[in-house]
Amino acid sequence: MGDQLNASHSWYQHKNDSVLYVIAELQQETNYVKHHIQKIAAFFLSMQAFADALQSAGHHVLHLKLEDTAHYADLPDLLLQLCARFNIECFEHQRPDEYRLLSQIQNINFQTHKLDYKCVDTEHFILPFDDINHYFKQDKATRLEGFYRKMRQQHNIMMTGDQPLGGQWNFDADNRNKLKKTDLPNIPAPLVFENDVSNLKARLKKHNIEHFGEISDTLLWPITRKQSLELLDYFCEHGLPLFGKFQDAMTGMSDYSWSLYHSRLSFSMNAKIISPMQVINRAINEFESRPDEISLAQIEGFVRQIIGWREFVRGMYWANMPSYSGLNSLNATHDLPEYFWSGKTKMNCMQKSLSQSLDHAYAHHIQRLMVIGNFCLLAGIDPDQVDQWYLGVYIDAIEWVEMPNTRGMSQFADGGLIASKPYTASGAYVNRMSDYCSGCHYSVKEKTGESACPFNSLYWHFMNHHKERFSKNPRIGMVYRNLEKMDSQLKQQTMERAEWILENLGSL
Ligand SMILES: Cc1cc2nc3c(=O)[nH]c(=O)nc-3n(C[C@H](O)[C@H](O)[C@H](O)COP(=O)(O)OP(=O)(O)OC[C@H]3O[C@@H](n4cnc5c(N)ncnc54)[C@H](O)[C@@H]3O)c2cc1C
Ligand code: SF4
Repeated sequence: MGDQLNASHSWYQHKNDSVLYVIAELQQETNYVKHHIQKIAAFFLSMQAFADALQSAGHHVLHLKLEDTAHYADLPDLLLQLCARFNIECFEHQRPDEYRLLSQIQNINFQTHKLDYKCVDTEHFILPFDDINHYFKQDKATRLEGFYRKMRQQHNIMMTGDQPLGGQWNFDADNRNKLKKTDLPNIPAPLVFENDVSNLKARLKKHNIEHFGEISDTLLWPITRKQSLELLDYFCEHGLPLFGKFQDAMTGMSDYSWSLYHSRLSFSMNAKIISPMQVINRAINEFESRPDEISLAQIEGFVRQIIGWREFVRGMYWANMPSYSGLNSLNATHDLPEYFWSGKTKMNCMQKSLSQSLDHAYAHHIQRLMVIGNFCLLAGIDPDQVDQWYLGVYIDAIEWVEMPNTRGMSQFADGGLIASKPYTASGAYVNRMSDYCSGCHYSVKEKTGESACPFNSLYWHFMNHHKERFSKNPRIGMVYRNLEKMDSQLKQQTMERAEWILENLGSL
């Protein structure tokens, strides 16, 4: 599979002439949603590089391209026909991380084809698959913090005895700075690669592979372990010292607005080119060797994302699939507006975040959560459409990580299994964390009238609409007290403005 490019897997530690490794480009993998062209390119080029590396290490590899697999109906058809062609006695595979693919393989009746069958671990995640059910139960709300602490204790990561290094588990409160104008010249230029895609682009065209988004003749994302490790080194040197501090910050005023202090390692990790432990250990070494430049808050913020959030969402995914994929607890039904595919909207925060996603197949976490996701949540967009967009557009989007983040954390469609409250915010939040509002067609200070920021009225409308569900939630009780206190005429005009917006989402 394209997301199983783990050269350290025990499979590859010894050469065995009777083993044939198969790696295949399949139309079913390009077509299950419409994908950003950079995402397709990153996976296909990485698969090519991986197949070449295995071959050079002396393994037998069959790397099938789109042209070789076009006549197979799907993955099971391909596997069974290859087993017959090569007189295979035992079919062994690494456990897919997507429910869709696991079901496809598990539905093959290997016995009737006289094949031995074995499914092995991918040896990638920090939490072994079989331990997921110790931490996560179906339909049970689970919070990150408890899981994160246990993971740190169990793996002895930044611990002093059984206590967290520095006496505090979580430095999130220190990680909410805005970028000031004077900070902008110091933002590091992103390390980008120049992987040739001209041949691949021609092949995608030849096979009529649908895609969207921009790509030049080169792909800037890392496709090999060497490039991924270079990116990791570069991040540790240039990004880590201010990673936590500016983790939630957004700007539209730098050439490097799209990358800021983020690692951009998610593709390399999700394709398993490098492992989460490798990333964490490298970052901790950097922290230990530069104590004057990298504070505990920076490294803790980074480690929490990987040993915490990344492992956590995977646990929630597997504990709750397949029912999770159909959840829509807020009954959201609106269509995704057209500007998600063009970036053309007068809302500056959305324009910047969407255009960046279409240009680079990447947006950083707060853009995904508090701009684009927040908009979809407030606007009541159907979570199926939101999921499909996120799954298609981002370089790192694989369902096990995309869906709990999108449907769960961002859209609250799981009714709070992942998040204790909906991640909603008015324009004031965007204004606090970015410089987007100063260049916007809309006024962030206004709730009513044609020039009022759409996030403002939508926010109050959302809260009012879902009052019964959320007013008793202690984390947002304050919002309802403010809503009660709102001048009745202002409240009515705010609701009217929101209703107009909801009927005219495409025209914003
Ligand atoms: C609506 C929404 C959809 C998302 N979809 C995806 C997705 O499809 N694939 C994906 O990998 N991440 C997803 N994320 C999580 C996060 O936004 C990305 O992991 C991150 O932006 C990737 O960029 P980076 O490597 O520069 O991350 P950094 O900011 O440098 O963070 C370091 C690493 O931490 C991990 N991480 C951080 N936050 C999360 C999180 N919430 N869940 C899982 N891992 C996390 C990632 O592996 C990331 O590479 C989503 C978040 C939201 C709110
Ligand atoms: S004013 Fe509103 S729409 Fe415009 S950038 Fe700010 S938050 Fe976004």
